[in-house]
Amino acid sequence: MKGKILVVEDERNIAELIRLYLEKEGFEVIHAPDGGAGIAEFERTAPDLVLLDIMLPVMDGWQVLKEIRASSKTPVIMLTAKGETGDKVMGLENGADDYITKPFEVKELIARIHAVMRRYGEEKKDEKKRLAFDKLVIDMDSFELTVDGRKVDVPPKEMELLFHLASSPNRVFTRNQLLDEVWGFDYFGDSRTVDVHVKRLREKLENVSDKWSLKTVWGVGYKFEVLNG
Ligand code: CA
Repeated sequence: MKGKILVVEDERNIAELIRLYLEKEGFEVIHAPDGGAGIAEFERTAPDLVLLDIMLPVMDGWQVLKEIRASSKTPVIMLTAKGETGDKVMGLENGADDYITKPFEVKELIARIHAVMRRYGEEKKDEKKRLAFDKLVIDMDSFELTVDGRKVDVPPKEMELLFHLASSPNRVFTRNQLLDEVWGFDYFGDSRTVDVHVKRLREKLENVSDKWSLKTVWGVGYKFEVLNG
């Protein structure tokens, strides 16, 4: 699979056409028919890219883009109607990665998706591999965890899991998302694997700081909670 794409589009025909072509290209497609559902699906499925219409019921594309950008750098391509030149500029200023004008050629859409994903992948590679919080340093270059000034031995998967959670503070991840994103799609473990790793991490991190904690969100999953002040 090439990646997950969330299509937020209220016109069913367009959405179905996009789904058809993207699935043929090997993408997994999730469809949301309005802005509210778009945000809910974004949080639930953690897509690799979002195709976002502007005129949407419940909440328009600008509002959805704002909500997404409040917590994520996931690439967003805006779907604008013909002649909405002002919208294009506004979209790019508001954190959209690209735009495409409806009606569009499927070839062009696919090319833009690939270009934006490639750019994002390269940016991600350059991202810092070291996170620091109160009494906690997670360094993925040296694979070292420093807790309250002491180096702590941690198995690689626990390190990766902690880094993944702490990279998006306060964001809730489901067990399945963590399995996909930390262990990879090929891993045939079950969600208890995640629980076991979180439990072991907690034993190392308990009572270290009151500024952050590894939290269970009942019925959903886990988050690395950071408290301000
Ligand atoms: Ca629309």
